[in-house]
Amino acid sequence: MKTAIYPGSFDPITNGHIDILERALSLFDAVIITVANNSTKNPLFTEEERVALLRQATRKFKNVEVDVFHGLLVDYVRKRGAIAIVRGLRAVTDFEYELQMALMNRKLNEKVETIFLMPNEKYTYLSSNFVREISRLGGNVDAFVPPSVRKALKAKLK
Ligand code: ADP
Repeated sequence: MKTAIYPGSFDPITNGHIDILERALSLFDAVIITVANNSTKNPLFTEEERVALLRQATRKFKNVEVDVFHGLLVDYVRKRGAIAIVRGLRAVTDFEYELQMALMNRKLNEKVETIFLMPNEKYTYLSSNFVREISRLGGNVDAFVPPSVRKALKAKLK
């Protein structure tokens, strides 16, 4: 049983995240999509809200579990019996930070591999950050997020 961890802020989950999740599911037997609590970010949705939105958006997939973790990612990967970390790469701008993080995680535990997956081109400009900003300004994000997220954004920002 080969399990991968897909960690992120998911504030909120977008269609780009779902694209990466589907690609990961074609490579691994199971994927644990997990909300990482990054203390340097000030999230729009609480941890519980992000987990609930992830659950709704990933309900249709088999072999996906939604979880949260606090602490070191490599420790969490080991605890969950996973063999890899999955991250999405949209553009060169993602690369430097992602490479640094992957190599640091390898230094902390050399058995954990990081796998980078590229989304469909139509998602390469999509980020949770833009979705939050567009929603705040009253724009339409229907093409970028699952319906449950659209509703949650409306409720949160009204
Ligand atoms: P983080 O704060 O950890 O970057 P995000 O929720 O922003 O959390 O992203 C989680 C992962 O998903 C990251 O690897 C990010 O590059 C990737 N990702 C985010 N949006 C997209 C997208 N539109 N297409 C592909 N990958 C994406």
